[in-house]
Amino acid sequence: MLRRALALVALLVFAVVAVALARALTLSSVQVEVEAVEPLAVDGEAVARRLGAAISARTISVDGGELDEAAFAELHALLEASYPRVFAQLGVERIGRWGLLLTWRGAQPDLPAVLLAAHQDVVPVAPGTEEAWEQPPFSGRLAEGYVWGRGAIDCKASLIGILEATEGLLASGFVPQRTLLLAFGQDEEIGGQAGAVQIAAKLKRAGIQLEFVLDEGLVITDGIVPGLSAPAALVGLSEKGYLSLDLVAAGEGGHSSMPPRETAVGILATGLARLQAEPFPPHMDGPSAGMFAALGPEMGFSNKLAFANLWLLGGVVRGKLAAKPGTDASIRTTTAPTMLSASSKENVLPPSATATVNFRIHPSDDIASVIERVERVLADERIRVERRPGFNSEPSPVSSTESRAWEVIGRSIREAAPEVIVAPGLVLGATDGRHYTGLADDVYRFAPSWVKPEDTARIHGTDERVSVDNLVLYVRFYDRLIRNAAS
Ligand SMILES: [Zn+2]
Repeated sequence: MLRRALALVALLVFAVVAVALARALTLSSVQVEVEAVEPLAVDGEAVARRLGAAISARTISVDGGELDEAAFAELHALLEASYPRVFAQLGVERIGRWGLLLTWRGAQPDLPAVLLAAHQDVVPVAPGTEEAWEQPPFSGRLAEGYVWGRGAIDCKASLIGILEATEGLLASGFVPQRTLLLAFGQDEEIGGQAGAVQIAAKLKRAGIQLEFVLDEGLVITDGIVPGLSAPAALVGLSEKGYLSLDLVAAGEGGHSSMPPRETAVGILATGLARLQAEPFPPHMDGPSAGMFAALGPEMGFSNKLAFANLWLLGGVVRGKLAAKPGTDASIRTTTAPTMLSASSKENVLPPSATATVNFRIHPSDDIASVIERVERVLADERIRVERRPGFNSEPSPVSSTESRAWEVIGRSIREAAPEVIVAPGLVLGATDGRHYTGLADDVYRFAPSWVKPEDTARIHGTDERVSVDNLVLYVRFYDRLIRNAAS
């Protein structure tokens, strides 16, 4: 009897292994096959000089601060001088004074239009770090094959890349079939209310329906995705939502010489510990599933084995993703306690204690479900959960990977850079892209910025820079994209 049972178990194990191996061995690439295209001739140094000039216009966004009118006037004058065909031949609208909406009317204006977005503003340089830069942060200097300065990657390379490609296409006599819209907000870094929000409202009033929107968001990662040797263009299908909650614990005030068993601080600390011990559940579907399906076939055998057999090894994969903050954040709503306050004096019991917790909401959750779960996990009536005023947003809808637009974006990336693998992804931060939700069937988030592990700290950090080679790729990508999308 035992023998037969053992034989049965052995047979079962053999069958599982055989199925797993077969699935791994037959896992085939989902990459769009593209025919080689003649690389567009681009004068990289000339593009670099124009980007450098754009960087030297200090279009800095500061929370609650005044917009620097002179800096935006300087940038606009520069763009108009650099791209004379664009500003003469496209419809030019200034929205909210410094937002730009350019319309290239298609030969078939009844087709849904395509909108390419970028933003004109940049984040400030952290006070005291100016000296740490290898080149002054607003010099826009060309040195060692790079253009240096704040905004080189985020997001003036996109702005310049889109305009360079458009100027070139106009010069070549290209006629788009679909209408092409170029939307450049001026306050993305502080929420986009005066820029992208107004541009989207204007398009809505005009009854314009978009086929798709492409804004910044994810990039080409080189050596960043574990187990993948090829560079990967990750195209964001969605961006996470944003919510901050204040947890207010009530206690009894008084002298600290005769404290109750639990003070407000103790009650709050216990609640925070519970929240940290019970992270939100992981979601391996949606953008994550799309990413595994696209990257798995391009990886080595052990990863192929795992990604082809998530039914069996899903737990192992989930564990690996959860082990690092960067990948953990892509599969769940994250919980980050960031601020604390209680008594103002060491020997006074606080009548209340407050913690602020910041949540980045996965597309499978929403603001209401996050609040509901927080209250359930806290399970303590003495802790009040309050929504903090200020910026918050729902996660954006997940865009399709079955659409013509998805195919067009993937094709354009691989025509401009054939060695790059294309995969869907989830944007962890916020972009202007979310403001166009509802106007378009799909909103994608990608710019062809070539990012190696050592480059990630440069974005919003010190020594932001973009290589001249990368700039050439920007122009080639947007050139292919406009041709493919508009025809
Ligand atoms: Zn940006």
